[in-house]
Amino acid sequence: MNSPTLAASRPSQLNRKDDFPILSRPVKGRRLVYLDNGATTQKPLSVIQAESQYYEQSNANIHRGVHWLSQHSTDLYEQGRESVRRLLNAARAEEIVFTRGTTEAINLVAYSWGWANLKEGDEILVTGMEHHSNIVPWQLLCERTGAHLRVVPVTDSGELDLDEYRALLNTRTRLVGIVHVSNALGTVNPVTEMTRLAHDAGALVLIDGAQAVAHQVVDVQAIGCDFYVFSGHKLYGPTGMGALYARYDVLNDMPPWQGGGDMIHTVSFERSTYADVPQRFEAGTPNIAGVVAMDAAIRYVEDVGLDVIAAYEHDLLQRATEQLLALPGIRLIGTANDKAGILSFVVDGIHPHDLGTILDTEGVAIRAGHHCAMPLMTRFGIPGTARASLALYNTEDDVVALAAALRKAQKLFG
Ligand code: PLP
Repeated sequence: MNSPTLAASRPSQLNRKDDFPILSRPVKGRRLVYLDNGATTQKPLSVIQAESQYYEQSNANIHRGVHWLSQHSTDLYEQGRESVRRLLNAARAEEIVFTRGTTEAINLVAYSWGWANLKEGDEILVTGMEHHSNIVPWQLLCERTGAHLRVVPVTDSGELDLDEYRALLNTRTRLVGIVHVSNALGTVNPVTEMTRLAHDAGALVLIDGAQAVAHQVVDVQAIGCDFYVFSGHKLYGPTGMGALYARYDVLNDMPPWQGGGDMIHTVSFERSTYADVPQRFEAGTPNIAGVVAMDAAIRYVEDVGLDVIAAYEHDLLQRATEQLLALPGIRLIGTANDKAGILSFVVDGIHPHDLGTILDTEGVAIRAGHHCAMPLMTRFGIPGTARASLALYNTEDDVVALAAALRKAQKLFG
């Protein structure tokens, strides 16, 4: 595994469990070993309190009222936008649109940019390791426009075949969708190089950062991508919140995708005109408390340091990999050189779901199944995997508990 490029200090423990109230609750009489962070992360007290404090002290609708509380609420909302800008190192806050999550952000791009720009014969290129949310919106778009969906193949080690990628890019390619970190394999994709190649071919690039933003420093300007999307709930923030980054000139040219209050400039029965970006894409009353809580989550990871988190999780992943590979009959799915936070595996003679159920009786929470990446499972000829996914609060003890629970499952299945 490659080391993170940033020279971070490498603490052997981050000692952050106490920040997360849920981690002290037992499950089935056992210490909770939460290793399902790829699905959603737990929330620190600061995030939980930010949301309740918002309702206790600051609640009012935004952008509308002349009264003090409305202005205060608007300030908090826009402060949240600035925090996302900072998190992604976007050039300007207007490039950040709040969404319900990664899925909605991708759909926004597919419906707004896609409808306005795609025509019959055009191509959208995605990779063979995309989450369904970076496949199905493009399929829907292709069905309606006559464009074609092309797929970059995945190698046996769970990496993208970059020669095939180069060969697939052509003058008809209008957009490339790439998962930054695969939720099913942990592979970190070379998004900067892939973006450069896509731009050389005249295509835009959308990066699905759902599994990246909580685990490494992300810099959209350094990557050079046109769109970057993520979900707040995988970043220690609330569910139902996320964001789209879109390069200003691209976003500014995009038509609205949902109509309603707040996204207009003027409305008449003859013709309505639309607000500037990003408001043009935020129709209706948004999840204001969600923005405030996501802001608190961003501040939380900034406080710990994303470079510190990356280095820590990298070492923990290495130790977890060693523990797993020391057991008989376990096969890792995804052995890329550059991986982040995710261990996907199959165990001889035990279905991933059975494994997940047995581990649960030991208090170890993992995910079992296709991880919303069915084409990838088909590529590897398996119905699914067991997946342990790490977060900054996981410790060496958690990894040891995982290995012990796996040994127990193997014994049970004889
Ligand atoms: N993309 C990736 C890589 C994911 O892991 C996920 C969720 O697991 C998604 C997209 C969808 O995220 P959400 O359900 O928060 O919209």
